[in-house]
Amino acid sequence: MSYIGRFAPSPSGPLHFGSLVAALGSYFQAKAHQGQWLVRIEDLDPPREMPGAADLILKTLDAYHLHWDGEVVYQSERHELYQNQIDRWLASGQAYYCQCTRKQIKALGGFYRGTCRNLHLTNESQCAIRLRMTHPIYQFEDQRHGTLTIPTSLADEDFIIKRRDGLFAYNLAVVLDDIDQGVTEVVRGADLIEPTGRQISLYHMLAKTEVKYLHLPLALDKTGHKLSKQNHAKAIDNDNPKPALLDAMQFLGFDITEEIHQASVSEIIAWGVENWHVEQLPAATEITPIFSNRSL
Ligand code: GLU
Repeated sequence: MSYIGRFAPSPSGPLHFGSLVAALGSYFQAKAHQGQWLVRIEDLDPPREMPGAADLILKTLDAYHLHWDGEVVYQSERHELYQNQIDRWLASGQAYYCQCTRKQIKALGGFYRGTCRNLHLTNESQCAIRLRMTHPIYQFEDQRHGTLTIPTSLADEDFIIKRRDGLFAYNLAVVLDDIDQGVTEVVRGADLIEPTGRQISLYHMLAKTEVKYLHLPLALDKTGHKLSKQNHAKAIDNDNPKPALLDAMQFLGFDITEEIHQASVSEIIAWGVENWHVEQLPAATEITPIFSNRSL
């Protein structure tokens, strides 16, 4: 089977160092397998998006010589795919409406315990839609980290597939899109280890085989927080890509020699594909990096 990988940024801001690590890791892994590397813009949550961010992200990928295969896919154009699946599950009874508020769930210990599972609520505007958890996943294999464990209470939960505000849930969209696009392996940041169990559950509920997973170490800032668009992590430089590129590659475990420092961006990327090995990735899932090129 041929390899299909992808990079799936949410356009909540420009790419920062952490998202560059995810872009590079997924690109190198795909190209080292002579595979395709797709780009999907995960614009599912308009209130958290920044106008113009999607275009900016694509420009940044170009500037870093990360050229994607095929057309860019936008989740905002794929609501029908998500809604059709939800409708099938509602009709079969696998999904149900739930009126519990976050506050009520918190008061019951923070995990949803199926309060509305058998209430047969009908299309109420004040409801979220949940999926009956019939295929819980308590652990999965990661290409770098081996067997990773998911907390039982999280794995057993009937999770939300459509929010009360009408937005589709990330886990649902990601799995339906990865299936639809023929993705064979997901390479992304270690912050997404926890939702992976739910995503594998979705594959099983859809009678599909899950993709392979590789989670890359997460870059933390000096205060120990994940770099994120919400935390206003600094955008990486489009005009001068080399410092951030070399720092991100060092972070991914490459041994950057003086010769590589002198090479062009496209040569560095080609060298990265040639020299990529999953075993060189740091074993830790969270790292506070110290950069020689001070790109952070
Ligand atoms: N859109 C997600 C993010 O930007 C990544 C989704 C994924 O790679 O599965 O954090």
